[in-house]
Amino acid sequence: METTDPIPRFRLFVEVPLNQGAEVVLSNGQAHYLLNVMRAKVGSFVSLFNGLDGEWTARVRDVAKKSAVLSVDRQARPQITEPDLWLLFAPVKRARIDLIAEKATELGVSILVPVHTRFTMATRVNTERLTAIAIEAAEQCGRLSAPEVRPATDLAAALGAWPAGRRLIVLDESGEGLPVEQALRTFPPGPAAILVGPEGGFDKSELDALRMLSFSTAVGLGPRILRADTAVVAALACFQAIRGDWRTSETKDPS
Ligand code: SAH
Repeated sequence: METTDPIPRFRLFVEVPLNQGAEVVLSNGQAHYLLNVMRAKVGSFVSLFNGLDGEWTARVRDVAKKSAVLSVDRQARPQITEPDLWLLFAPVKRARIDLIAEKATELGVSILVPVHTRFTMATRVNTERLTAIAIEAAEQCGRLSAPEVRPATDLAAALGAWPAGRRLIVLDESGEGLPVEQALRTFPPGPAAILVGPEGGFDKSELDALRMLSFSTAVGLGPRILRADTAVVAALACFQAIRGDWRTSETKDPS
């Protein structure tokens, strides 16, 4: 008899309550991934998280051709408060939008909002694909939640329905934004959002309007023009290092 569980090699996000003795029936896709791709077997340990109940160790109890049932054993980590950080991004071409979803998840974004701006080229946004990418990234990076991917909206609509108290960091490629480090050091605590423009950049009138908003700060990321996906990664890294959860070894929301 084993006395301590080995560290599970598999980690899955599930959308059911997790508690001792719970049974989790995996969706076809997850069962396929676990059994055929990862080659888990009856008895294999699996980590489960659902964004609410922390992380739990479970075991594969039954497998069939296209399904698997897990039994939940014990809590390995309690739920923690993860950063309340949104990313609004203009949709870009497929490979880059996929990268944005993956990297934003690893960097702790809680909600991803595709927003159409004047010069946005990509039209259709596949929210389901982005959600699947975000979930996979969350499973891989050890988060205890998976970010929500909102349906695409117009920038004007997103700003019109802006929630009170949330600061908006506008990534401003014009060179007129505050240097990012300076902006973030003096940034008020509380919920925040980062907005990145499309490959064609923001229209001048868009940027002027964004700068006028009472809740926005236009920020520069240095003297070079970055691709949108690079700007996302750079801005999120700066945010987490200066204002977010990279400041402490504890994974608590420090703001
Ligand atoms: N075509 C535009 C560049 C757009 S880059 C041009 O040539 O000016 C895509 C987006 O990345 C921009 O809208 C902005 O949000 C962000 N970005 C790129 N470089 C940046 C920088 N140096 N500082 C701040 N934001 C930047």
